Amino acid sequence: MIARVALETVLRKELDYLVPPELEGQIEPGTRVEVPLGRRKAYGLVIALVPESPYQALKPILRTVGERALVSPTLLQLARWVAEYYCCPAEIALRSVLPEVVRRAEAGWRQRLQVRLMPVLGSLPRLTRRQQELLHILEEHRCLPLAEFLKLSGASLGTLRRLEEKHLIEIVPQIEERDPWGREHVLPTSPLPLNDAQRNAVEAIVAAMDELKKAGREPARGADLSEGPARSRAAGGRSQSKVFLLHGVTGSGKTEVYLQAIAAALERGRSALVLVPEIALTPQTVERFKARFCAGPQRTLVAVLHSHLSAGERHDEWYKIRQGRARIVIGARSAVFAPAQQLGLIIVDEEHESTYKQEEAPRYHARDVAVMRGALEEAVVVLGSATPSLESYHNAQRGKYTLLRLPERVDARNMPRIRVVDMRLALREERGVPIFSPQLREAILQRLERKEQVILFINRRGYATAMLCPRCGYVARCPACSVAFTYHRVGQRLLCHICGESQPAPQTCPAPGCGDRAIRYSGLGTQRVEEALLRQFPRARVQRMDSDILQRKEEYRRILAEFRVGHIDILVGTQMIAKGLHFPNVTLVGIVHADLALHQPDFRAAERTFQLITQVAGRAGRGEVEGEVIVQSFTPYHPAIQYARRHDFEGFYEQEVAFRQPLHYPPFTRVMLLTIRGRNEDKVRYVAAHVRRQLEERLVGWDDLKMSGPAPAPLERAHTYYRYHLMLRTQRMLRLSRELASWLSEVTLPKDIQLTVDVDPVNFQ
Ligand code: ADP
Ligand code: ZN
Repeated sequence: MIARVALETVLRKELDYLVPPELEGQIEPGTRVEVPLGRRKAYGLVIALVPESPYQALKPILRTVGERALVSPTLLQLARWVAEYYCCPAEIALRSVLPEVVRRAEAGWRQRLQVRLMPVLGSLPRLTRRQQELLHILEEHRCLPLAEFLKLSGASLGTLRRLEEKHLIEIVPQIEERDPWGREHVLPTSPLPLNDAQRNAVEAIVAAMDELKKAGREPARGADLSEGPARSRAAGGRSQSKVFLLHGVTGSGKTEVYLQAIAAALERGRSALVLVPEIALTPQTVERFKARFCAGPQRTLVAVLHSHLSAGERHDEWYKIRQGRARIVIGARSAVFAPAQQLGLIIVDEEHESTYKQEEAPRYHARDVAVMRGALEEAVVVLGSATPSLESYHNAQRGKYTLLRLPERVDARNMPRIRVVDMRLALREERGVPIFSPQLREAILQRLERKEQVILFINRRGYATAMLCPRCGYVARCPACSVAFTYHRVGQRLLCHICGESQPAPQTCPAPGCGDRAIRYSGLGTQRVEEALLRQFPRARVQRMDSDILQRKEEYRRILAEFRVGHIDILVGTQMIAKGLHFPNVTLVGIVHADLALHQPDFRAAERTFQLITQVAGRAGRGEVEGEVIVQSFTPYHPAIQYARRHDFEGFYEQEVAFRQPLHYPPFTRVMLLTIRGRNEDKVRYVAAHVRRQLEERLVGWDDLKMSGPAPAPLERAHTYYRYHLMLRTQRMLRLSRELASWLSEVTLPKDIQLTVDVDPVNFQ
């Protein structure tokens, strides 16, 4: 028998090794092994067992490492698809299914001494009163960590040891699982009676689950890996769709649909995986799932995976899932690879979110991986959003996905009224650009008087965009990146939002021969809006919330809690307050500068703007009082703004696809973005042109292929590197990825030039 092994140190290669007789039966796909590599040894993961190899004189595997078959065959298959489709080395993709902490196994389990009551056989020995007291305490708790018991009882370790000698108790080391949410108390909730739209959705999902279960045991029903995620659906000509797109307006009760669909999966002995954008991993979201499933009578174990976990916590959560104890997994992007057992349902909430795309290799899109995983595991996939991505909606239009709709807010509450304010008019009335139009100012005043709450949204942190000298035009720029510094008033610093470089802000213009004292700031940031609020509404309690603050997790929770109980009148923030939060007393939402997202050099700019306004608007009027939204814009008649104003997703979709189709943009093609970077600009430009010529030769006759560039990237220079883009578009991405991988394995680029491949990119910077 021969094992094909992906080595952890050698990329883009899989090597064959002999399975020695003594290891036979212990090695299967997913086993971690140690193998000889030249004169050294290396670790690797067995990808497959094959009867023969094209190579001669194979060396034997030395030993197995850790528990056997950590990774299921399905997850291995998924990782291989990720490697192929996203054009990255198999080993890089495998890192996603076998996270570092599990692989290195250094975090391990935490052991703590526990005190436990022993069963008493026969009559109780004579005890002092103190000893009896201690036993009573223990009887109440049965088992307690030693340290906690000592503290609780005030007893000494010696006293306990004497009880142990009498075999009344035992003190033993025991694995204790770290529970990152352990100290929180959650009140149980029960399923809500569903409205018609919700019931239809749940019934359709459950029916699909049952249907798959019936069909699932037929061996021929493997996923077709030959195309992208959407395509595999049609494999075998069966039209039975397993992917649902749940399009529900904000506040329509999507979460309740998820919860009841999960309950149905659990009843059927299957587990569920819930993906949420990292930002939404607030206590609020996790709590709703825990309240339904952990706090109730069944006490289903929920595992939570997100980027703030310690290595130890991550280790424990992973094993809880792998051992099949945690039946529900909630997590951000990378949780799509969680080793859930008997997976029956995958939910991707806010499926349009760009945080599902990983920005380093493997550059996968978790929503698309989820669709592929659903096909491999025969699980139903539900993609939910108030503003579906054009790709997903297009797939629903074509019948690849099944569309489920929740067209109304729960309790038929009205959608908030959205007013668009033309800032060009405000500009004429006053000198300079006002931060708040008269309409917005008036509306804020009104809410303050009525003791209602306001959320103001500005898509940029910091105080101002740039520091600018009005006399000579000097703009403070990051020396390593081609962007202006952002001025942060706190600490009076200039900060680069690309590389993090930070400098004290100059007091006078540093341009040679200028030195003007009037150097000041242009543009808007959260800090500047906060300051303007404090000046114009001196009695309002204002709080800023952006990623500068989010870095302190406790602070973030505290602010949300204070806002909830009404200790804050106005919350100012970036995207992060646009999502998932639910505050009934918020009756006004203002978008200070809606055009910021619109002017990105990206074909999705309009889509993002539409999503942004719709999602932000969803925060208004979630209580008894009707909500109002004020959108300030310099281009008020842009379709993205106008369709959002009318809550018209279908209208926006129609006009946006009409714009993209003739230009061959997704969803009509798939994009591959090559970035070529290096420190010498001429060389970068030269290599980029060379790459294009080579690819043209290689891909000659591919009639659906469009190649554009090379051109300087919008972010021309970052971290001192010059960057050029080359964009390829095709309808058959897997074919292109394979071709590119094969070209990459042959080509040698200059050492100081790097090339990255991004399939289905969401960031065109
Ligand atoms: P969405 O995720 O679609 O924005 P949510 O799931 O947050 O909406 O639901 C909004 C509110 O409506 C929540 O407070 C939720 O508990 C409540 N809700 C959802 N479904 C029902 C229902 N069938 N009956 C009553 N209240 C509901
Ligand atoms: Zn920089």
